[in-house]
Amino acid sequence: MYDLENKVVLVTGASSGIGWCLALELAACDAQLILLARRQQRLEDLHHEIVVKHGGDPVVVVADVADANSVREGEKKIAEKFPDGVDVLINNAGRGLHSAFAEADSQQLSAIVETNLTGVIRCTQAVLPKMIARGDGCLVFISSVLGELPAPNNAVYGATKFAISGLAESLEYELTPRGISVLLVEPGLVPTEFAQISGTPPGKYNRLPHTTPKQVARRIVAAIVHGLRRLIPDRLAQIGILWRRFSPRTWRVFYRNALKRVG
Ligand code: NDP
Repeated sequence: MYDLENKVVLVTGASSGIGWCLALELAACDAQLILLARRQQRLEDLHHEIVVKHGGDPVVVVADVADANSVREGEKKIAEKFPDGVDVLINNAGRGLHSAFAEADSQQLSAIVETNLTGVIRCTQAVLPKMIARGDGCLVFISSVLGELPAPNNAVYGATKFAISGLAESLEYELTPRGISVLLVEPGLVPTEFAQISGTPPGKYNRLPHTTPKQVARRIVAAIVHGLRRLIPDRLAQIGILWRRFSPRTWRVFYRNALKRVG
């Protein structure tokens, strides 16, 4: 069992959705929180909610994970406050784009790669040296069911999540012997601002089962505490991933038909 009390936990993308709920769940475990995102006011609001509900004094870091200089500035602020480094990094910040690949705006596609992949590499490399020096730490990667089940209109987003799932497994082999645990999380559908920001047509996936951000956050915290290596919080996603792995041909037939029904 991993005790989160007084552990220094950095949550990227804390200003909304899964990250926001994660921060609240972690605060309830008495973790020392670092809340990172670009929208300062949102982070201040979350800081206020945490202090009122759970006490403590989370550190707010306004930073853009897609910008190397911004991450370096954030790193300095964190080092001043926590010279021994971060115990748990939750790589949660992410963005998507719902668009046919052929018509997708190339700048937006680059921003997805910079945020979801390069940003994750940046943040992980920033915290890792001190974890290795201590021989202790936990890295959490929020990938997606689309990191296992490729879907149309999300090609580059899905590609970054495939990369994250691969990165997490590689790091698991490299870092577990050095005392650092790695948790890969592959959520299914979670109603947050994500769909609207990525331009998903309103109501498109309304008929599909979903997991709330609070449920996902609770399961992630439990997975950290119990030292799990992989978490797929959604039952339907678990079935889809296993089906594609063990019977890729029948999966394709089913998936094509299911996608037609969703529209
Ligand atoms: P939200 O849009 O609600 O939250 C995304 C968070 O990422 C925000 O806090 C946003 O903050 C932050 N963020 C985005 N870009 C940057 C950046 N360049 N630098 C720093 N922070 C950034 O989405 P979710 O909570 O749904 O998504 C969280 C994670 O879960 C993502 O990685 C997503 O891919 C993944 N996921 C989501 C699913 C869903 O159905 N919602 C399903 C599967 C996975 P700000 O704008 O203030 O910077």
